[in-house]
Amino acid sequence: MSVDTAIQLDPFALARALSGKHFIDGEFRPASGGKTFPVVNPATGETVAEAAFGEAADVDAAVAAAVKAQKDWAKRPARERGKLVAECGRLLTERVEELGRLIALETGKALRTESRVEAGVLADMFTFFGGLGGELKGETVPFNPTMLTMTVREPVGVVGAIIPWNVPLLLMAMKIAPALVAGNAVVVKSAEEAPLTVLRVVQIMNTILPPGLVSILSGFGPECGAPLVSHPKVNKVTFTGSVETGRIVYKAAAEKLIPVTLELGGKSPMIVMADADMDQALAGAIAGMRFTRQGQSCTAASRIFVHDSIHDEFVAKLTAKVNTLKMGDPLDEATDIGTIISQQQMDRVKSYIAIGNGTAGATAHVCSAMPTDPKLAKGLFVQPHVFTGVTNDDRIAREEIFGPVCCIIRWSDYEEVLAAANDSEYGLAASIWTRDLKAAMDAVTRLEAGFVQVNQNLVVQPNLSYGGVKTSGLGKEASLESMLEHFTHKKTIIINMK
Ligand code: ADP
Repeated sequence: MSVDTAIQLDPFALARALSGKHFIDGEFRPASGGKTFPVVNPATGETVAEAAFGEAADVDAAVAAAVKAQKDWAKRPARERGKLVAECGRLLTERVEELGRLIALETGKALRTESRVEAGVLADMFTFFGGLGGELKGETVPFNPTMLTMTVREPVGVVGAIIPWNVPLLLMAMKIAPALVAGNAVVVKSAEEAPLTVLRVVQIMNTILPPGLVSILSGFGPECGAPLVSHPKVNKVTFTGSVETGRIVYKAAAEKLIPVTLELGGKSPMIVMADADMDQALAGAIAGMRFTRQGQSCTAASRIFVHDSIHDEFVAKLTAKVNTLKMGDPLDEATDIGTIISQQQMDRVKSYIAIGNGTAGATAHVCSAMPTDPKLAKGLFVQPHVFTGVTNDDRIAREEIFGPVCCIIRWSDYEEVLAAANDSEYGLAASIWTRDLKAAMDAVTRLEAGFVQVNQNLVVQPNLSYGGVKTSGLGKEASLESMLEHFTHKKTIIINMK
């Protein structure tokens, strides 16, 4: 079942080659039950590959290999582990084009604006964590002069990592890289909609890592994700996905009393003050709302609160700018916006557009023309919808849509807008746009979110702790803190010197 590791820039050929396989214990393997499920190109509706249908027996095989591999891995010096992880980063950097093309094919995210960018950040995440091996430090504790008292950080063992489809490469890297450097082995369960590119990444990593240290299974939540979470030899679960599934995972992990990291949904507010730099705020709204990713982001700035005095100008300029974004074939360099991931997600997005259209006082500004190429006729394209006349109490402003639908909410009182921004079950990201330092400082201290920015809407960055409050999740990712706090436990050692 081998697959050539030579760089393959034809994503269709690569998808076929990766068909029907898990990667377990250093090799490609078919699903234990022999079943597969289709991987669909959302731009055309065509099946481009089959994915192995993972079940409990596959989980058992991957976890057994991980248990074995982890023992020797943990004995290696931390910096040596880091060097190998950094080397994975180097190998993946050589493949940005290959990985970008494949992820564009299976997710429908435009190659130029999204997929190639994600492939680059993936490699960077490995490079970043690869340098942190020497930071796995403990402490000495001034307990008693006759007892040398210290802490050491030890790996947790086998980590189960469950990832979603929207940015699978980046989100997988944020889990695998720190877990490995900290001395753990990892079993990944990919998202059913995007199983191929992450499989390729794990294959490439396995050209230099010991077998079993990183395995990956494709499959569905109940059949493959659930047995991974509840497996007795999995000592930690790190999950990114919906709030509903996050709750299920948390409960299953609670049965075993193991630690969990959860990165869940968001409905991130962006407050635009009257004195904001208009062009900067417009660019930030487009980047923050992830229009080029069809809004499929947990940090999407989907509630944009704009001061009354600049509201109309902001809306006119924003919709004009979004209109210039070209929807089309994700693999075409000219395309800015690709497709929605799946028919199920498309139906969900459309149902929210219908809710928006039925909201009293709301107006939909529908942007960007639908593609006209007949070969894309079955593609899952949705035009960006900017709703104005919305209040923070309306459903489209409260519920996470995970699509190209954003709400512009007019405001005039600062205390009221701050209260509205915080009036959400979520607390992942937030931003404030102003030239007034005092206002910015006030807002950043009072906004209830894990990732707060002034005059910009950056995405996750290596070295910056990322994670939400309220129902947006538990724990941090992407930083040194995430490696130390979430992939190790501290042992206290007391040496009696008397
Ligand atoms: P989305 O709505 O974005 O698909 P989900 O939370 O359903 O988000 O899925 C995120 C990941 O969680 C996917 O890999 C999915 O297969 C997995 N998953 C779904 N249900 C479960 C479950 N019961 N246990 C473990 N993982 C699950």
